[in-house]
Amino acid sequence: MSFPPIREELRGLQPYGAPQLDVPVQLNTNENPYGPSAACADDIAASVRAAALTLNRYPDREHVELRTALAAYLSRDTPHGVTTEQVWAANGSNEVMLQLLQAFGGPGRTAMSFAPTYSMYPEYARDTSTAWVQGRRADDFSLDLDAAREAIEREQPSVVLLPSPNNPTGTALPPEAVGLLCKAAGDGLVVVDEAYGEFRRAGVPSAVELLPTHRNLVVTRTMSKAFAAAGLRLGYLAADPAICDAIRVVRLPYHLSAVTQATALAALRHAPELLGKVDELRVERDATVSWLREQGLTVADSDANFALFGTFEDRHAVWQGLLDRGVLIREVGPDGWLRVSIGTPDEMMSFKQAMAETLQMEV
Ligand code: PMP
Repeated sequence: MSFPPIREELRGLQPYGAPQLDVPVQLNTNENPYGPSAACADDIAASVRAAALTLNRYPDREHVELRTALAAYLSRDTPHGVTTEQVWAANGSNEVMLQLLQAFGGPGRTAMSFAPTYSMYPEYARDTSTAWVQGRRADDFSLDLDAAREAIEREQPSVVLLPSPNNPTGTALPPEAVGLLCKAAGDGLVVVDEAYGEFRRAGVPSAVELLPTHRNLVVTRTMSKAFAAAGLRLGYLAADPAICDAIRVVRLPYHLSAVTQATALAALRHAPELLGKVDELRVERDATVSWLREQGLTVADSDANFALFGTFEDRHAVWQGLLDRGVLIREVGPDGWLRVSIGTPDEMMSFKQAMAETLQMEV
């Protein structure tokens, strides 16, 4: 056996991750371009200082105060309210979803989604030895609900991962999709990944509303995107308390550090400020989509803080052309497409200028 003795199916694989390059305009990982204010940073620092004085002790394994604050935040999205017992948090929604696959996937079980979609999903499956099945989205990246229902009934997955809005296309699920697919999944879980949920257009409800009607529904969220706290690493879910209990079996003890819990609680106290730019980012998104269309490009309708556009014969050349002009976007999605995250008006101006110059070169 060659060294190191890594699992056979992992041999030679590259780790997932967008290039982290030091360029002036970073529009490649769907972060919120607006950082916290000095007042918010001071409150976080004071909370972390208080937590630091207790660092000789393990943190609250059940992170009750944080789950209660997250439940209150989620309760805004549903007339039914969300309780502390329905909430579970971890280091980013990536970890939340990995924990779901650890508890509900595994050998002999199947997870599925519909491509093009978030490229980490098959990795959660691979890492938990869960079989991975991928259906297709329609040409406009929407989900053909009849085909999706049939695929779920045929494959009987233990976990269906459905982002809404989807990454990298920005496509939100129609309101009727979640209930229909939860029924099709039978005893399997339907995970609606709302990492970009706060950016959705008016009239698109959160799946959180449907929790009381579907016991197999899980809604995941993150503080990394709209909440402007990607560096914090805090994701969470709302689901039936029995689902949270199952995760408790696989979670590592004390997985959320005292520093993380204190920071997240302080950030939640500043929710109105941290979320304060969401409306502006939506306006900037719609303007960016219109501008790209005016350039004769095809752009997927977006309910998120990014836009997928194309198509280019040589998308890498366009990506490189932008990078040469100090603008970093993401080479992701189907062949020929590129994804740009929505930044500040100045950053989007730089993006448009770099695009115009790059396209003039007829790459
Ligand atoms: N879901 C989707 C659809 C995403 O795009 C991302 C991040 N790019 C995540 C989940 C994970 O985010 P985090 O771990 O930062 O919460």
